[in-house]
Amino acid sequence: MSGLVREGLEWVSQATGTRWVAVIGLEVHAQLSTRTKLFCGCAYEFGAEPNTRVCPVCTGQPGSLPVLNAEALELAVRAALALGCEVAPRSKFDRKNYFYCDLPKNYQITQYDRPYCSGGGIDLDSGRRVRLERIHVEEDAGKAIHDRGDATLVDFNRAGVPLIESVTHADLCCPEDAGAYLAALREILVYVGASSADMEKGELRCDVNVSVHPAGEPWRTKVEVKNLNSFSNVEASIEYEIARQVAAWESSDPADHPVQETRLWDAGANRTRTMRKKEGEADYRYFPEPDLPPVSVTPALLEATRALLPELPAARRARYQRELGLSAYDAGVLTAARDVADFFEAAARLSGAPKDACNWITNEVLRALSGDEVAATSVDELPMKPHDLSELIALVRGGTLSASAARQVVRAMMQSGKAAGELVVELGLEQVQDDGELERWCREALAGREAIAAQVREGHEKALGALMGPVMQASKGKANPQKVREILLRLIQEG
Ligand code: ZN
Ligand code: MN
Repeated sequence: MSGLVREGLEWVSQATGTRWVAVIGLEVHAQLSTRTKLFCGCAYEFGAEPNTRVCPVCTGQPGSLPVLNAEALELAVRAALALGCEVAPRSKFDRKNYFYCDLPKNYQITQYDRPYCSGGGIDLDSGRRVRLERIHVEEDAGKAIHDRGDATLVDFNRAGVPLIESVTHADLCCPEDAGAYLAALREILVYVGASSADMEKGELRCDVNVSVHPAGEPWRTKVEVKNLNSFSNVEASIEYEIARQVAAWESSDPADHPVQETRLWDAGANRTRTMRKKEGEADYRYFPEPDLPPVSVTPALLEATRALLPELPAARRARYQRELGLSAYDAGVLTAARDVADFFEAAARLSGAPKDACNWITNEVLRALSGDEVAATSVDELPMKPHDLSELIALVRGGTLSASAARQVVRAMMQSGKAAGELVVELGLEQVQDDGELERWCREALAGREAIAAQVREGHEKALGALMGPVMQASKGKANPQKVREILLRLIQEG
């Protein structure tokens, strides 16, 4: 499988010179952040004791009846609106029949031919747009655990957990597109609170469809790779499939050509393997779920949900650059998590100094949160609030605090939650404004540094730095640098 050279969005076979292009579509399952499951009152909890979050409904006991969780529908609608989809006023649930040990009812309740929404999409930074074909609501299956000796264990806690499955058109052309799309989708779902989309907890799972064909020719057979649970696995499996399929098509024996099938990614071996030859849709014998009424999304629900939607990260990034003059980089850092962006906006508004607020948050706050000097791991948990930061910014701007003293205060605020003004006094950090004391330190600094003073007198103002240092040191950082500068210049001119 060697001899394939990537050139932009084409893969060139060294053996034949053929230029191959890839066609990629993604199906992403995201777990909705509801309190209870999709059709019963069980509360799912990741990592809970197996089979303790179950009831007759989610284990498919005879005679039990499902009831749609209104919160799940609300969150699904929220996700749809954030992704620009069109929400159908009426949709329905269907049964998808298959047998597997993690599926107690022997069917999954999903939406087949009338999903709750269609259309929409995401614009990638590359300039390409990934269109969504549809999103539907469905229940998750339980979990079969195969790695315990010769037994397979089943945990039904996850059975019935609400999912939305979003299906893209085959608009992606390379592994990086898939990574970028997934990152953008995840960011939006988390931002609007539809899903916490933690891939390590299986809250976001991705299936990819990949095919390759020579540039300019019709599309060929697609292959599905299932259950990818990390960004790197998604990209690596696509990369692998492109190379595998090109080699298969270029084989002289047609028996080697790719066939429509479902494959699994083996991360250890860094390759995909056949899981099953693709079953047709007929095999699932879909039919309308007789125990559930049709789903209706009223205009009132749509409007109420729309009103609750926060500004999305991409729009926020653009606004920070346009209206607040921040760099694309800073805007990206601030909007990566919604609580950070909210904190920044409040501090920027209260202080009237967005650039200062941005600097404190990106330099000090985020660094502290990623380290272990503060107990909090997110901005929301910090005892320091936006008004505390705005007070600090005012103290620096007003000349009460030097930059280095302000850094000490901000760290203390993140630990204690005390007000900036209080900490300035407590830590003895107030800048010395007293001219007499400042002048004494300046004279001490000048003593024995006549050569430097002479340079300054000749117009080399940069040399002043060599005198500022000793003054700031003598004052333990509390001297007001602006005043020190003025006094030094005056003394040098007088001397
Ligand atoms: Zn249940
Ligand atoms: Mn599905």
